[in-house]
Amino acid sequence: MSQLRAAAAAARGLRRSRAVRSPEKSRKGAAPRGGGPAPAPAQPPARHLFSDAAEIEALRRNLLAWYDKCKRDLPWRTLAASEPDVDRRAYAVWVSEIMLQQTQVATVIDYYNRWMQKWPTLQALAEASLEEVNELWAGLGYYSRGKRLQEAARKVVSELAGRMPRTAEDLQKLLPGVGRYTAGAIASISYGQATGVVDGNVIRVLCRLRCIGADSSNPAVIDRLWDMANALVDRSRPGDFNQALMELGATVCVPKAPLCEQCPVKQHCRARRRVEKELALASQRLLGTCLPVPDVEDCSVGGCPFCPPATEPWDSSLGVTNFPRKAAKKQPRVAWTATCVLERRGRCGALEYLIVQRPSSGLLAGLWEFPSLPLALGLQEEKQREALADHLRAWTGWPVAAGGLRYVGEVIHIFSHIHQTYVVYSLPMDGDVTLDPALSPSRWVTEEEFHASAVSTAMKKVLKACKKQCGEQNGFGKGSKRKRGAKPGGASSCPTGTQLSLHAFLRAPSPQ
Ligand code: SF4
Ligand SMILES: [Zn+2]
Repeated sequence: MSQLRAAAAAARGLRRSRAVRSPEKSRKGAAPRGGGPAPAPAQPPARHLFSDAAEIEALRRNLLAWYDKCKRDLPWRTLAASEPDVDRRAYAVWVSEIMLQQTQVATVIDYYNRWMQKWPTLQALAEASLEEVNELWAGLGYYSRGKRLQEAARKVVSELAGRMPRTAEDLQKLLPGVGRYTAGAIASISYGQATGVVDGNVIRVLCRLRCIGADSSNPAVIDRLWDMANALVDRSRPGDFNQALMELGATVCVPKAPLCEQCPVKQHCRARRRVEKELALASQRLLGTCLPVPDVEDCSVGGCPFCPPATEPWDSSLGVTNFPRKAAKKQPRVAWTATCVLERRGRCGALEYLIVQRPSSGLLAGLWEFPSLPLALGLQEEKQREALADHLRAWTGWPVAAGGLRYVGEVIHIFSHIHQTYVVYSLPMDGDVTLDPALSPSRWVTEEEFHASAVSTAMKKVLKACKKQCGEQNGFGKGSKRKRGAKPGGASSCPTGTQLSLHAFLRAPSPQ
């Protein structure tokens, strides 16, 4: 009975989720499941292919009819459908595709609208500064995407006379940061080129439709999926077909609980047929009913590089979610950073924070942050504090004492490949800081200016933690709790309360 229930649950699907596109480069060089390079699979057996022209036609028809009825109303779709200028149309699609890599649709909409309002054309984007691009991109993550998009726009304007390349092949060849997926999406949606696309959603749908259990991050498997996408794409509506396939993966054929009952292509899905077969057999066995058992072709026993490997065979409890099979994710690197929120009252009495610009390459390139210092793993709290005080002393030229740094707490932020913990301190001051101009650029900003600056989500979390503690120490905020030993208006108080002298803040507390 449990087998029957599990299969039924998998077939039915229990909840919806949203999948997002992977950046194209993240798929390159991904390790195959189980480690070690997997051999390149040969031509797949018929079970894993679409070879019946009538079936392909029916699938296209069903998918497009569903898309016409159920597609989400999204601003880039409206632009792609209404913009008569082909270069503007391609630009509008391009921006959306870059933003959608690794970011949820719901998050992208607001960014996209603001971006297109600010830079409605390639020319406008080419004239923007990187600082402006970073400011608008702040909070969207994977910051190099915005930078690369702008670099490519400049190239189109300066080297291609403002004319976007007109085929997927040329888009990929001529534009930096445009890979096979983005090129296919722009060309099919903007120009009507009959070329397929393969992103995370498409991989999932195709692997389920054709029971592909090989490691879907294996480049040879991905190549086969591209062949399949190119064969399937509707010749008269390629852009809509590609979007429909991705929409299906994002809203119906979702990773954990696909809504197979509502799926417009369920009659073409071999993973679902397999589940139905198991249901019918289990029903025969356990309940004595005689449901017809669907006919499911199987590859010859063993050795098929597209079936699930013998070491990890089909698992009945997973149903259609047996597919796709993915390489095990690499564990993120653990990193610790000490961060100090330097605060002062500005000329108009508003609270201001000192922010410093990161280097122009590497993680969060060119973004602004509170003065920060990477820490060795396992460093004791006392040593962290001393290291940060040393760093601030060298940086500001002021006699910052470790004991003058007010501990705020730890803020955790997960980057794609880094599990980052910020150990947050604050240091209120009542004077200006003259920084060595040879060091990184820095500036004082109000809270409003901070949020309008090119700062990462992690830094916004740091400021939030700092303000929360401030509120608590001053009797504001939800809990209005005061930490044991913290004295309002004392050397460790927040400047939103009593403003104290610089000397008081820099002096280490006297031993109790
Ligand atoms: S493609 Fe198959 S697995 Fe995906 S929702 Fe449709 S029927 Fe279910
Ligand atoms: Zn097989």
